[in-house]
Amino acid sequence: MTIRLYNTLTRKLEEFTPLEPGKVGFYSCGPTVYHYTHLGNLRTFLHNDFLKRMFLANGYDVRHVMNITDVGHLTNDEDDSGEDKMEKGASRENKSVWDIAKFYKDEFLRDYNDLNMIAPTVMPHATDYIAEQIELVQKLQDLGYTYEIPNDGIYYDTSKFSAYGALTGGSLSGNRAGARVGFNDAKRNPTDFALWKYSPKDTKRQMEWDSPWGVGFPGWHAECSAMSMKLLGNHFDIHTGGEDLSRVHHANEIAQSEPITGAPWVNTWLHYSFLLDKSGEKMAKSKGEFLGLESVRSRGYDPMVYRYFVALGHYQSQLAFSWETMDASAKGYANLVRRVADLLSSDGQDINQGLYDKWHEDMLNAISDNLKTASVLVMFQEIIKSAEIDNATKLALTVFVDDLLGLQFIDRAKKLVALEQVSAPAEIVALAERRVTAKANRDWATADALRAEIESAGWTVLDGKDGYKIVKRA
Ligand code: AMP
Ligand code: ZN
Repeated sequence: MTIRLYNTLTRKLEEFTPLEPGKVGFYSCGPTVYHYTHLGNLRTFLHNDFLKRMFLANGYDVRHVMNITDVGHLTNDEDDSGEDKMEKGASRENKSVWDIAKFYKDEFLRDYNDLNMIAPTVMPHATDYIAEQIELVQKLQDLGYTYEIPNDGIYYDTSKFSAYGALTGGSLSGNRAGARVGFNDAKRNPTDFALWKYSPKDTKRQMEWDSPWGVGFPGWHAECSAMSMKLLGNHFDIHTGGEDLSRVHHANEIAQSEPITGAPWVNTWLHYSFLLDKSGEKMAKSKGEFLGLESVRSRGYDPMVYRYFVALGHYQSQLAFSWETMDASAKGYANLVRRVADLLSSDGQDINQGLYDKWHEDMLNAISDNLKTASVLVMFQEIIKSAEIDNATKLALTVFVDDLLGLQFIDRAKKLVALEQVSAPAEIVALAERRVTAKANRDWATADALRAEIESAGWTVLDGKDGYKIVKRA
């Protein structure tokens, strides 16, 4: 199957060709674990998961690396100023930096799990790869790309890298305003960035390491170059992140890596558009009401509803979050789960292979065509409602949609059935039991009459291999 993805580097929708047939390696910039992950971050991670599932459905062997940033991400990325976000989190909560990292990483992993995202193949922590980052800076120094700003750190000289800013089609001067307020005027060029920052002389940082240049810590961008090259090799298929990363973070990653690896470093760059808040601005940790997955859970929504909401959008379009849209998604999702619940009793029955293959191919085509998750959902609605497709085939296609979109329709449908069975009133259960006896006595007329009585009371008996189930009528 042809796979097409929008490559930020070439600004084109391209046919994807793996470096090694049947295999794909991709690196995703992960969370900075100084605070809870918000719904915007989670949107980005969900698109990684759709990407991964698309490759798995196409039979690829997927190697996915996603980092955990636990050091070096300053509050102002653009001019390497401000505080280290991790140290800031630690002083805010009066905990050690290590405790902050552990706590928020665990919270992140809980959200990750609740959203049914497949675990990365490797999830490296920046603090476990300090030696590799020092080695990267050393290599860049040996190649003549660095300079020192006394009492500050080692910087990358972007004027030495002629392809700087290629991701955004930018030039050195045009890419970022040099005259920004607060611009570090010791830098040779506005776009230069820190590779290694010295610890301040007057305060002791909780996280700091020895290096050939003095005690300090790596600049944020260094970790992604060092870890991706170590874990995926000097040339790999795909690198992903939110749309905000292309201009600075990814531009800097490329500048750090390509002098070492020789271009090209990464073949395809994928950037996901923002989740917006209700005022139409980028969702962020610092603005207004904090919206994380906990807000979703505590309002009684299944996390799958958020996943469904994200799947209804496309990664190249911004998506506005509101509780009203969550309500609409909850309804849509519940309707599908209800329909799937009615299919469960056909488990194990023969399917119509021709119909299965046709829909399977159509859905795989849609997801492979630049990750059209919403088109898959439209087709799935059509399948579920179709009078032409038998229940067993519908159920088999639901299993495939669950693989493709991770929406756990089958799991939630089973839970719904279990819940409904438990909550069926005693008189309905009594009717169902009398029906079992009638069937055992081959008294079909009574069995049919009892079924009709149960149906008219708003319930349905589903006969399965392991006995019957009573569910509310759809
Ligand atoms: P951070 O933890 O801030 O380093 O961000 C983790 C990931 O979330 C990065 O890939 C960001 O680009 C992405 N991100 C941040 N804000 C948003 C947003 N509002 N919508 C979508 N992705 C975002
Ligand atoms: Zn990164």
